[in-house]
Amino acid sequence: MTRTQIHIPTLVRIKAGAVDRVGIYARRNGFSHVVVLHSDGLPQELLERLNEGLKAEDVAIMHSWPVKEASFEQARELFPGIPARTRAVVGFGGGKALDVAKYTAFLTGLPCISVPTSLSNDGISSPQSSLTLEGRRKSLPSAMPFGIVIDTKVCLAAPEVLWLSGIGDLVSKLTAVFDWKLAFHAADTPIDDFAALLSDATVFQFIARPNHDLQGVQVLGTALMLNGVAMGVCGSSRPASGSEHLISHALDALGGTPRLHGLQVGVATYLVSLLQKQSSETIAALFEKTGFWRAVESNPFRRADWIEALCRAPSIKEGFYTVLSSRDCLPEAEDYLRNDPFLRNCLVE
Ligand SMILES: [Zn+2]
Repeated sequence: MTRTQIHIPTLVRIKAGAVDRVGIYARRNGFSHVVVLHSDGLPQELLERLNEGLKAEDVAIMHSWPVKEASFEQARELFPGIPARTRAVVGFGGGKALDVAKYTAFLTGLPCISVPTSLSNDGISSPQSSLTLEGRRKSLPSAMPFGIVIDTKVCLAAPEVLWLSGIGDLVSKLTAVFDWKLAFHAADTPIDDFAALLSDATVFQFIARPNHDLQGVQVLGTALMLNGVAMGVCGSSRPASGSEHLISHALDALGGTPRLHGLQVGVATYLVSLLQKQSSETIAALFEKTGFWRAVESNPFRRADWIEALCRAPSIKEGFYTVLSSRDCLPEAEDYLRNDPFLRNCLVE
């Protein structure tokens, strides 16, 4: 059997002080001219560190644009302004800037260097961009970043809730991979053993030591990056996204107050693990240890939104078999949302 081409990052740096070295990495790879797309409102000090590092290596910054929204329209607007001499697009900041940078790089055919300043989801290295198209959130095919540069010190200093969001997105791999296996048995969905194993393995590595310190950030960053790579390896979002993501997409589509992706996905992961009858205790313990539950409880979700999302979730992606396709899960899910000792504190009427 011939294999389609596998897309994985070429440059990977996960260490303290990496932001100052982006210029070195760019020069070594022949990126003499770059465009920087950064989060709107990023601390000036961080932007200056990146710029200084690039200038010190004679890497010309053709443009440095703030990204205000993660939308297809924003990427389309930026695309024609990218000068012909540009050799790479640098995405710097939070998920929105990275999603737009990856997509702009994809449109121009240029390599993208992804430099996250927080670890709130696995978008740092996935071959997809989560963008709104005419106001509706979509997952669009995008470029797998050429480079992933994670400054562990910078990410450690980011608000703790972003770290918790990253943990929520990470554990979703446990339910996603389980859904993938269900789909293999029930609907002949092809499974890529290596991608499934890679995705699963990264979660357990983090669970073994989920501390919010430099080493913890390094392990979480590595795990989220490898989740993105797992998608690139098999050319599908299956290793990183299952029914828990369907529930999250359904919540997004309801159009209420936008919440952090990983907080939403994390709660959905725990709920789905109860429906799948696997990994629930592991997930609950991790959320307890890291303060994930407390963060959600301090700003709970609306019960009615979750019931509506659960009704819509099974039909969101056509031909995508998950535990939600296996039976009518709604009555069980409603019961868990009301009576489970963790879930009942995550929702308000
Ligand atoms: Zn996700």
